[in-house]
Amino acid sequence: MKKSGCCPKCNSTEVYTTKGTTKRGERSSIGISSFSSVSIDLYICISCGFIEEYGEESDLKDLKKMEKLKKLFRKVQP
Ligand SMILES: [Zn+2]
Repeated sequence: MKKSGCCPKCNSTEVYTTKGTTKRGERSSIGISSFSSVSIDLYICISCGFIEEYGEESDLKDLKKMEKLKKLFRKVQP
């Protein structure tokens, strides 16, 4: 959805994102400490309501933030 602009559930192209916009909704970040958070880019298909969320690339490259996140979250075992 992020790259294709196409919904994987219903194949609609009515996909909208918060990425690159200044107005953000409530689901805009994950707090990883009292002063640090990872911003979320949200993608929603307005045909079926499917939502995808991605951490913002600049935050994913922030090693300090990612170290905090790794301590806070549980790794998904493959
Ligand atoms: Zn859809």
